[in-house]
Amino acid sequence: MKIGIFGGTFNPIHYGHLRSAEEIRGRFGLDRIFFIPSGNPPLKRKDLAEAAHRYAMVKMAVRENPSFEVLDIECARPGKSYTVNTLEQLLEDHPDTDFYFLLGIDAFLDIPNWREPEQILSLTNFIVLSRPGKNFIELFHSPYLEVKKNVLAGLDRGEGDSCATVLKSGKKAFLTRVTPIGISSTGIRKSIKKGSSIKYLLPAEVESYIISHSLYMQKN
Ligand code: ATP
Repeated sequence: MKIGIFGGTFNPIHYGHLRSAEEIRGRFGLDRIFFIPSGNPPLKRKDLAEAAHRYAMVKMAVRENPSFEVLDIECARPGKSYTVNTLEQLLEDHPDTDFYFLLGIDAFLDIPNWREPEQILSLTNFIVLSRPGKNFIELFHSPYLEVKKNVLAGLDRGEGDSCATVLKSGKKAFLTRVTPIGISSTGIRKSIKKGSSIKYLLPAEVESYIISHSLYMQKN
């Protein structure tokens, strides 16, 4: 069994997340993709919707796709949840499964700031997604990857879809181009504050949920 893990704040989930996950599912032959919205941080963060709302929106967004599933493993936990604990739990719950952790270039570059990064790198394979505004060449200085500069630059120029590399832990990392979709949750929240339309940036049901719960409308 091959399972993708897609973690994020999903504040809110949008078509950039959904389309990237669907392309990766097909390309890597993943049986399922688990979407795992983060929980509530101990200190309330301005502009971060309650975990229960973010979970509800992801649930709606993935409903139609039989390979997509949302897990409340982080949102149901009180206090801050850490990726390392989530991965350990998933491995325990799903023995004999190959896990692939999906994340954008921006998120992969942030791993050194996460709790127990070396342990994280030893628990799962990685699929690092392209994202508008971020280039693979930025991964050249990542302490975890050893990929030649010209290979990274080639990916950025669109020469090839994917590059596979082995991490020190023996797990694999795939640097993978997906259709560039310049949508971000930050952009969506900004549009809502301005009163601009967010139609076609995310599923219609999620848009209705945001409106009916007056999410992201506070100006400060
Ligand atoms: P924000 O703007 O609030 O930072 P976001 O749009 O980056 O949010 P997250 O929930 O933080 O969304 O993202 C979860 C994961 O999805 C991250 O690994 C991120 O890099 C990736 N991701 C988000 N948007 C895109 C996109 N448009 N294309 C590819 N990957 C994306």
